[in-house]
Amino acid sequence: MEHKTAAYICTGCGIGEALDIEKLSQVATKECKVAICQTHPTLCSQAGAELIKSDIEKEGVNTLMIAACSPRVMYDVFNFEGCIMDRVNLREQVVWCQPPNEEDTQMMAEDYLRMSGAKLKGMELPEAFKPERELSKDILVVGGGVTGLTAALEVAKAGYKAVLVEKEAQLGGFQKKVTDKATFPYKDVKPNDIDALIELVQKNANIKVYTGAKVEEIAGGPCVFDVKVKQNGTSAEHQIGAVVMAAGWEPYDPAKLDAKLGYGQSPNIITNVQFEEMKLAGSLARPSDGKALKNVAFLQCAGSRDPEHLPYCSTACCLTSLKQAILIKQDNPDTNVFIIYKEMRTPGQSEDFYRKAQHSGVIFARCQDPTVKVSGNDITVDFVDELLGESVSLGDLDLVVLATGMVPMTAFGEDPRAKEPKEGEEASEVPADTILASDILNLQYRQGPELPGLKYGFPDSHFICFPYESRRTGIYPAGCVRRPMGVANATEDAAGAAMKAIQCVELTSRGAAVHPRAGDVTYPEFFMQRCTQCKRCTEECPFGAINEDEKGNPLPQPTRCRRCGVCMGACPERIISFKNYSVPMIGDAIKSINVPDEYDEKPRILVLACENDAYPALDMLGFRRMRFNPWVRVMSMRCLGSLNLIFVADSLSKGIDGVLLLGCQHGDNYQCHFIKGSELANIRLSKVKETLDRLQLESDRVRFESVSITDYNTLAKLLDEFSDRLVEIGPNPYKGF
Ligand code: SF4
Ligand code: SF4
Repeated sequence: MEHKTAAYICTGCGIGEALDIEKLSQVATKECKVAICQTHPTLCSQAGAELIKSDIEKEGVNTLMIAACSPRVMYDVFNFEGCIMDRVNLREQVVWCQPPNEEDTQMMAEDYLRMSGAKLKGMELPEAFKPERELSKDILVVGGGVTGLTAALEVAKAGYKAVLVEKEAQLGGFQKKVTDKATFPYKDVKPNDIDALIELVQKNANIKVYTGAKVEEIAGGPCVFDVKVKQNGTSAEHQIGAVVMAAGWEPYDPAKLDAKLGYGQSPNIITNVQFEEMKLAGSLARPSDGKALKNVAFLQCAGSRDPEHLPYCSTACCLTSLKQAILIKQDNPDTNVFIIYKEMRTPGQSEDFYRKAQHSGVIFARCQDPTVKVSGNDITVDFVDELLGESVSLGDLDLVVLATGMVPMTAFGEDPRAKEPKEGEEASEVPADTILASDILNLQYRQGPELPGLKYGFPDSHFICFPYESRRTGIYPAGCVRRPMGVANATEDAAGAAMKAIQCVELTSRGAAVHPRAGDVTYPEFFMQRCTQCKRCTEECPFGAINEDEKGNPLPQPTRCRRCGVCMGACPERIISFKNYSVPMIGDAIKSINVPDEYDEKPRILVLACENDAYPALDMLGFRRMRFNPWVRVMSMRCLGSLNLIFVADSLSKGIDGVLLLGCQHGDNYQCHFIKGSELANIRLSKVKETLDRLQLESDRVRFESVSITDYNTLAKLLDEFSDRLVEIGPNPYKGF
């Protein structure tokens, strides 16, 4: 498309008072060579938008430079279909954070116009990706427990079709094995109503149910997933839009518990799961001889919150023990029931359930480290009561219930129990009947068949910022596979994941990206003639969006793509580009920065800022009218993982004094919105440092810093410190070349 470019400079919000608008207009017309340049006192007003629309309609303008506020605001106003657009952030990152009418402030604004002009020249109008095949909006739900059943119902209620696959012969999951439940409003134990939920699902014409079945294969991507379901030796095929993965959990293996908890030393020492089996079988009695229970002790956190076993809290075990204790009291109020806990975790309204147990006569004692002693038929629990400060010995116990935790089904294969054995220990083995993580979805992805997990095997990709997202686009974990939880939370979780799945099929069917670039219709395009089959893109894509053929040629699956640009940064041949985001485009923008010579004593710092946290943090400085270094020129990046080392080389060879990469935290507690983009940028940076050293350019000129959106308070200082270091090092010797 031939560009006809117009620049619009807003003079509102203090821009007109702080900058020489006439000079800015000259930069737009003479240097950026825009055909039209207009100013407006409030460009975001209806009149401002009309001005732009009129130029589009009457003057044939199709490329817009909007120099006004941050691109993070007013995006609904500055939304002109069919036009290429770039926003120049004159408000938050120039006039709101720099002194008005100063030379440096004006230079900063002019550079941003130049950078925008260069970017616009390289941009093309994005066209949404449309697969050749018909798209499906059906949702596959894997797992027929309370989460899966609820998710399927929510999908159907919203007018979509669901396909539910359950590995067991009957629906219901773990809830099918319990008689009562502890759930909202937590006033009393409630009878289990799982059968009613199962019936609703089975009667719903929009839900196709497979039991005793497994997902044999999932190929393709959102809206074009090809799913094979195997049941009774036959295979059914479905085209699916998105997946809710509710594969559930397994109880922590009690055989692994410390010997001091006594498991295996007496039939009267059981787990909370075995308690449920006993209740379901009809009687609460001493397992060894069926006699009535007189004294019962529950031991909380059996193997949970313990670095040697499950380091996390399973959240539901406290409520479960309360429920079981109340059931014993209801069965026989004369039975003495003790709960020995590290901390009683009953947040919110579930605190009422704790009170209910207290009122039922359950006795609580706090201790971090109880010991179970078995001598013949006698069972004793010794502990130090932290509140009384006294040693207590609870003897003559008929039953000890160990509150074991939950392990997500996705942990097996990356099994925390299968870790390296210590000296003298036997290697942990996954039981033969365990379904391995790789066997749940059987993904036909170059990066492997399973949903990659966080460190304990939960496949959520980022618990705080984007719940339900996984590292495989269009596949949303829900329920205990996402985090340990009870039935009340699992029900909510199912609805949340179902909504995410629906959002995914709707956005994908419009050719748009899902979170975090929701609505983006660009996608990476590969200039395959120059591909060297190096496989970096297929290996580094955080979402497994690129398969490859037997020769190593990348086979992009655009509906899986999250538009992060990590592949673009990875490709040594620089042959991966988006219509409005490419290596040459960013390179040209960097080259357009006006670098004063060393005698002007105006160093230049290029900040490559991740658009998810670092760029908003810089905006926050502006919102709060906090000043930041005037030598800085910010370039927003989709993700620092889209960093191509050529950006650093271009900057330094142009005489820019330093390059600062501002990305999200990486590592185990990563905050990167694209999982490993900032980590990859840091790895790439370590390579550039070696090159700089070889060129005798100080490696301190390039630095990576982790920044979160809340770091705006320290960000200005960080920029100043970097700038001070550059002054110490002296001007870039390549200035003027
Ligand atoms: S790296 Fe990012 S942009 Fe590239 S294919 Fe993967 S998800 Fe898409
Ligand atoms: S990174 Fe570039 S050169 Fe390497 S396989 Fe991917 S497209 Fe080809």
